[in-house]
Amino acid sequence: MKPPLSLLNPSMLSGSGSLMWFRKGLRVHDNPALEYASRGSTCVYPLFVIDPHYMVLDPNAYSPGSTRAGINRIRFLLESLADLDSSLKKLGSRLLVLKGEPSEVLIRCLNEWDVRKLCFEYDTDPYYQALDDKAKNYASAAGIEVFSPVSHTIFDPADIIEKNGGRPPLSYQSFLKLAGEPSFSLSVELSWMPPVGDVGRCEILQVPTLKELGYVEKHQDEFTPFRGGESEALRRLRESLSDKEWVANFEKPKGDPSAYIKPATTVLSPYLKFGCLSSRYFYQCLKDVYKNVKRHTSPPVSLVGQLLWREFFYTVAFGTPNFDEMKGNKICKQIPWNDDDKLLAAWREARTGYPWIDAIMVQLRKWGWMHHLARHSVACFLTRGDLFVHWEKGRDIFERLLIDSDWAINNGNWLWLSCSSFFYQAFSPHTKRHAKGIHI
Ligand SMILES: Cc1cc2nc3c(=O)[nH]c(=O)nc-3n(C[C@H](O)[C@H](O)[C@H](O)COP(=O)(O)OP(=O)(O)OC[C@H]3O[C@@H](n4cnc5c(N)ncnc54)[C@H](O)[C@@H]3O)c2cc1C
Repeated sequence: MKPPLSLLNPSMLSGSGSLMWFRKGLRVHDNPALEYASRGSTCVYPLFVIDPHYMVLDPNAYSPGSTRAGINRIRFLLESLADLDSSLKKLGSRLLVLKGEPSEVLIRCLNEWDVRKLCFEYDTDPYYQALDDKAKNYASAAGIEVFSPVSHTIFDPADIIEKNGGRPPLSYQSFLKLAGEPSFSLSVELSWMPPVGDVGRCEILQVPTLKELGYVEKHQDEFTPFRGGESEALRRLRESLSDKEWVANFEKPKGDPSAYIKPATTVLSPYLKFGCLSSRYFYQCLKDVYKNVKRHTSPPVSLVGQLLWREFFYTVAFGTPNFDEMKGNKICKQIPWNDDDKLLAAWREARTGYPWIDAIMVQLRKWGWMHHLARHSVACFLTRGDLFVHWEKGRDIFERLLIDSDWAINNGNWLWLSCSSFFYQAFSPHTKRHAKGIHI
């Protein structure tokens, strides 16, 4: 006898498809949303939407790229998508690429495709929060199950804020105390995936090239040497971890910020930004190395400590209204910055006349990645150190040009470096007095 329908797991019903909406989280390893989408589904639609908000060519921008993203980051994203497509193909699936305003495209897909579960990684950035609300509201009204796990970060920022009585912790040490040891289990490694469902009349694209998006590569004299994608992320991670002594003794801010051939740090930030690398997997790998060495450094200076800085900024950013602005931001000092666009342009175009500052700004334009202390130098120089230009202006330039551009971390560090928040007393080499909040 057949069981009554109500006793059936909906995923056992015929025609139970899932839509996996990729935005960040561009990976197959440790991807709980992808795992859930695949579990018990007859078909899975792995979707990525090319979003004009980030991707439309801006011929008037001060350097090649779109209004919001420099060409290096767009290229990094396209490489990451091509790599994801190739990994999905190995599992018997593929990436479905569409173009348009993401929530509109998604709603059209939910309407036209056979979807019972909508799965996507939870995102704390305000831009995605707004998109996700629209998607969730639509899906719920249509009776589609929504699964949106926290897997971009090690901790759930909302949990930490709740533990702190509804307010985000404002110091790294208090964050560490509240957070404690993380408890997560990595999602299972997929060995296959259900096939892609019928896409009806939807015109699916291949992952586009820069040229197909209208970008003419010759306008960029040099591209970043860091290639996008999960495969490259895992290769870089393995390479870093293979030197156990280096991992165990990692101590920031020690390390040469001008080491270009072999950078002094992991350069995993762009992979964490796009989720080509799971921060939880990275964390677990580091802990495994620590188990096998006699001594290792600790937060805030260790590599685990670096990942926890990321968690700290995600938590504060999530719990602070208007985090990315001076006005209306309760944790930001109100400072009468100047709005001198000539000084800003000289800084952006590496024309300050200070070789160290200009070299870093050249690296930003050409590579989209600089060592942390190099970022310190130019951020400090633009704001409290020399030019007294508003931190939001420097933030915007980093946000556009960095390949690891990350809303929470970038804003958090600009607030810090401009002495607008977290840290107010500068280190003075003359008086040999150290600042209270040492940021590494
Ligand atoms: C003004 C300014 C702006 C910045 N903007 C960004 C940004 O947009 N995106 C970004 O990822 N980082 C940003 N950083 C933080 C930091 O400089 C980079 O994360 C780091 O240099 C990346 O190199 P890595 O991956 O080799 O780091 P590693 O030292 O190898 O650290 C491993 C990981 O820890 C995290 N991490 C390290 N340092 C920090 C930090 N200070 N705050 C938060 N997380 C950290 C990153 O995810 C990094 O990939 C900024 C720093 C400054 C001073």
